[in-house]
Amino acid sequence: MSAHNNPVKLDLLMTIIHAKQALLPDGWAESVAVTVDEIGRIADVSRGDETASDHRVGILLPAPVNVHSHAFQRAMAGLTERRGPNPNDSFWTWRQLMFRFLDRLMPEHIEAITAFVQMEMLEAGYGSSVEFHYLHHQPGGTPYDNLSETSARVAMAAQQSGIGLTLLPVHYQYGGCDKRQLGAGQVRFGNDIDRFAKLFGGAEQALKPLPPDTNFGLAPHSLRAVGQESLSSLVTLADGKPIHMHLAEQIAEVEEVEAAWGKRPVEWVLDNAEIDGQWCMIHCTQMEPHETEALARSGAVAGLCPITESSLGDGIFDGLRWFDSDGKIAVGSDSNIRISLSEELRTLDYSQRLRDHSRAAFATSEKSTGRRLLDEISTGGTQAAGRQCGSIKVGDWADLMTLNDTHIDLEGRAGDVALDCYVFAGDDRMVRDVWSAGRYMVRGGEHIRRSQIVETYRKTMRELGDAL
Ligand code: ZN
Repeated sequence: MSAHNNPVKLDLLMTIIHAKQALLPDGWAESVAVTVDEIGRIADVSRGDETASDHRVGILLPAPVNVHSHAFQRAMAGLTERRGPNPNDSFWTWRQLMFRFLDRLMPEHIEAITAFVQMEMLEAGYGSSVEFHYLHHQPGGTPYDNLSETSARVAMAAQQSGIGLTLLPVHYQYGGCDKRQLGAGQVRFGNDIDRFAKLFGGAEQALKPLPPDTNFGLAPHSLRAVGQESLSSLVTLADGKPIHMHLAEQIAEVEEVEAAWGKRPVEWVLDNAEIDGQWCMIHCTQMEPHETEALARSGAVAGLCPITESSLGDGIFDGLRWFDSDGKIAVGSDSNIRISLSEELRTLDYSQRLRDHSRAAFATSEKSTGRRLLDEISTGGTQAAGRQCGSIKVGDWADLMTLNDTHIDLEGRAGDVALDCYVFAGDDRMVRDVWSAGRYMVRGGEHIRRSQIVETYRKTMRELGDAL
């Protein structure tokens, strides 16, 4: 039986959460009561009476957005770390596995893997997830009878996991900047712009059964996979909704775009598209200083994926220059090789330290490193996802996480120091509770549907068997 026969229906009740300390928009506060209404929004934040609350917690934080995920890739985590016959090709095992995997992956598998990784995201402290969804068609490239079948599966997975979803169907048309045909490993992704518009409409319909915090947008895959002429059509189709695109991730990509279109990717988009706060540019690991400064000032969010970028050897984001130019950031788990919010933040700061021989790279005179990074990704994540969240204030969706203040590394710690202990000395085992738009999905560190979701995932992995 596939998991979608059994969607989560959670009836929300008005809830009061009392926190010993909470990170509010203007800083840390003690003894805070947060009231969440029946729709899942924060209805009141005040100095609290502990006895009148439904939940008593230690450290209460906004649960950030996971701004970039390809859910199905979770099944490949850890399986592509060997080299193939050509010592100069470090992507060989990854490509071989991807081909075999894509020949076998069915819609029910996509749904099960997606529910599993979304569960892991919630357990890591993320309140919502932006799915950059490009696996649209059958093996061989023929569309499903329902053109938006796999988008519907992502939606059904979100009903299982209870995560707040922003779904971004991806337009992917060509195998490179020269508009070559898609390769065998890419045919499941491809559409022309007209068929993509139909798929996009169907995907929006598939979100209808989901809760009211659900969001929708679209994604041109990259400059290599989308024709120049399609970008403006996609902006029209998005109609003000979030637009995400992979940009300037690897050196070979930058060279291909420059050779074909005469400009580096960031230079090209800034000259040829109206880039503003509607956009989130994923990766941005290969930028010259002038590109970093200009893209930051455009208002676009940089969607950083520090663990995946480390895993793929992409390069180091120029974070200090980006912030000096008032740039906004968010983080995402991308390949889902490892789901860890604390580790994404730690890896991001360590990347700057390794490059610059420095310490506490992102700390300011007012905020510690952990605090600055959590604040930045909370603000940037809400903009990029088109989701009203990211702070503990009236009117926001109640995307909340708590840290266990009796954990040995948090005992007696408060404020920014506690956050730094979580990011640099601890890990996600410190995360105790997570609410996504008021849905209380993680309790005592464990997702409420863990055993059922894991069982379906285990069966899926058995079915995929020797493809992996
Ligand atoms: Zn990606």
